[in-house]
Amino acid sequence: MLRSFARTFASCGIFLLFPWFPEAQAQSFSVGTATAAPGRKSTGYLEVPAGIDAATNIPVIVINGEKHGPVLALVSGAHGTEYTSIIAIEKLINLLDPSQIVGTVVLVPLVNIQSFEQKVPHVNPIDNKSMNRFYPGKADGTQTERASFLITKQVVDRCDYLIDYHGGDLDESLRPYAYWAPTGKETQDGISKEMVLAFGLDHIIIWRDRPTDLGATRYLDNTSTARGKPSIVVEAGYAGVVEPDDVALLVDGTLSTMRALKMLSGDPRHIENPVWLRQSCGCLVRRPWSVVPLCKAWYLCARGNENRLCHRLFRQGHTRSPRSRLRCHLAHQRSPVPQERRQHCRYRDHCRPRPVDLI
Ligand SMILES: [Zn+2]
Repeated sequence: MLRSFARTFASCGIFLLFPWFPEAQAQSFSVGTATAAPGRKSTGYLEVPAGIDAATNIPVIVINGEKHGPVLALVSGAHGTEYTSIIAIEKLINLLDPSQIVGTVVLVPLVNIQSFEQKVPHVNPIDNKSMNRFYPGKADGTQTERASFLITKQVVDRCDYLIDYHGGDLDESLRPYAYWAPTGKETQDGISKEMVLAFGLDHIIIWRDRPTDLGATRYLDNTSTARGKPSIVVEAGYAGVVEPDDVALLVDGTLSTMRALKMLSGDPRHIENPVWLRQSCGCLVRRPWSVVPLCKAWYLCARGNENRLCHRLFRQGHTRSPRSRLRCHLAHQRSPVPQERRQHCRYRDHCRPRPVDLI
């Protein structure tokens, strides 16, 4: 009897982490100007009013399941030239069927409209601010701050879980990876860890010691995390290139995470033995722009040094991955990244670019 109880507990242990969403009549759900009845999709805008600079309208889509359940927010395009993540959310808008969903999905596919339209990486060209650095925002600030304020009120405050999508920007060549930011709160961390494992990206950076002041949370996912909502960041795509495999990683990862959250039927597909990185390499290596088409420029630890270096610097635990790659950036000359941050990575001697056909 005891043994069978233990077995049952173990088999459903992870689900005990999740809050219970009682059976209730699904109701209409509104975000910005989008209102979706149960079983419907609706599109609209988060209307950012004019202030000391211009107004802007940020598209928002509400997909409201027929059954009552949690609210999951999917946000991309804070950096409007990280195309892979934006296209992945667009695919999900079409793919997600409200008749199959338990709960509600709020999708914001393109936060930074002006970055997208003007092909400006990293910042909103209206006020020259990154749209993932000024949360929770200010009602009377510049456009980025007003937009962040609206997203905090309309999206973060009203969701239960959040995923923020990024990737290598026009001048960055990043491999796919995720961030997991533990808070020390066991239940919340258990759910966010389940989310990041279910998403399935094979490199996970553990991001500790993030701002906890609710008035200065800085990043979108941290704004959600600090408010007690399990959240993760996922990254795929690089240098303005959109590869179907990268889009598929984000789309399939989202569906798997929704299965883990019991918002879709079926079993999630967890990543086995991800590489847990204690910190990002953080190096910005200046290289000619022309190298991008020749290789993905995923700077890998040099063969031979790979295991030793990665284990010493970045690895945590005893899990292993077939390849240990470091996350590095590829910055070209016109990058707005401050000059002092473009110094050689101190690990650069151990890293080298590798042509795509060798990866
Ligand atoms: Zn980004």
